[in-house]
Amino acid sequence: MPRNVLVVGELNDGAPSATTRELLGAACGIAASGEVGVVLLGAGASAAAPACAGATRAYTSDDAEYDAFRGDQWLRAIVAALDLGDADLVLIAQSTAGRELGPRLAQRRGTAVAMDCTQVVDDGGTWRATRPAYGGNAIATYTFATRPAIATVRPKSFAAVEGDGPATITALPGAGESRTRIVSREPAAAEGLRLEDARVVVSGGRGLGAADGFALLQQLVDTIGRDRAVLGASRAAVDLGWCAQSMQVGLTGRVVAPDLYIAVGISGASQHMSGCSGARTIIAINRDADASIMDFARYGVIGDYKQIVPELIAALRGG
Ligand SMILES: Cc1cc2nc3c(=O)[nH]c(=O)nc-3n(C[C@H](O)[C@H](O)[C@H](O)COP(=O)(O)OP(=O)(O)OC[C@H]3O[C@@H](n4cnc5c(N)ncnc54)[C@H](O)[C@@H]3O)c2cc1C
Repeated sequence: MPRNVLVVGELNDGAPSATTRELLGAACGIAASGEVGVVLLGAGASAAAPACAGATRAYTSDDAEYDAFRGDQWLRAIVAALDLGDADLVLIAQSTAGRELGPRLAQRRGTAVAMDCTQVVDDGGTWRATRPAYGGNAIATYTFATRPAIATVRPKSFAAVEGDGPATITALPGAGESRTRIVSREPAAAEGLRLEDARVVVSGGRGLGAADGFALLQQLVDTIGRDRAVLGASRAAVDLGWCAQSMQVGLTGRVVAPDLYIAVGISGASQHMSGCSGARTIIAINRDADASIMDFARYGVIGDYKQIVPELIAALRGG
């Protein structure tokens, strides 16, 4: 049965974000021959709309007021898009903005939201959404009794699709007033690649023993190349103050799916693995041959990282 799906898109440097393209991929799979709409808000939104492969219709506003995310302004725009279309399902990224928008939109429309989903399917006319629960130790399944169903979706849960962008672009109103005032902005001190975009992630955990363990891991990253590798961390390492929270991989951190994930001194708790189990290959460097991470790793290197990592660096440098 054709179903209409509305994707709440986000822009990244004037282009649809990677997660937006994944949501459109999910929507295409679900909608059958129904309509796939995408909402894009902020400067350059209508110019970015053609890059939304899989969408049949875009709802855009180029008002730069939307660039600084304020929930009330975005909510009004999404409600306007819903009023113009006839969506059975709304997909929103499980991003900082999406975490706020999902529940607010559900409240506004008198419907329900399932948060942090990894799968959404049309089960014979009923929407079924699944998400990890209890820190990734169980999978919860939700069905919706109200319409439209709303789901926020974890990054990297779906693949983007190739193809044409929307045939129709409908203008949405400007942002208007907001009850939120942004007092100041502190850009994260991000250098180089984003964790989510790196092909190789080298993550350190409590097993590093001290903050300077990350200096050694940075040497490994530099040897692999800063254009494709980046540092990550377990929550234990973040909580110990050894590195920035923005480096945390896992349930309450970033979700990554690189070609190679090198976990150094990380035990492999389910909450950590839910952020990196999508990696194509995992190499674990750990003193404990029985650590849980070994169940996920394609290659396990057993021993003290202080000996293994310098040897790895030397080998990569051809020394
Ligand atoms: C609601 C909730 C959300 C959470 N979210 C996250 C999350 O997003 N991300 C996350 O990572 N965790 C998260 N956690 C925490 C998680 O449960 C674990 O506590 C955490 O991942 C453990 O981090 P770790 O593997 O670095 O430390 P540990 O579990 O202490 O493991 C350290 C490992 O290092 C090894 N080791 C020690 N010394 C060396 C050495 N010299 N050389 C090599 N190996 C060595 C040890 O054998 C051990 O396997 C969450 C927990 C909860 C309850």
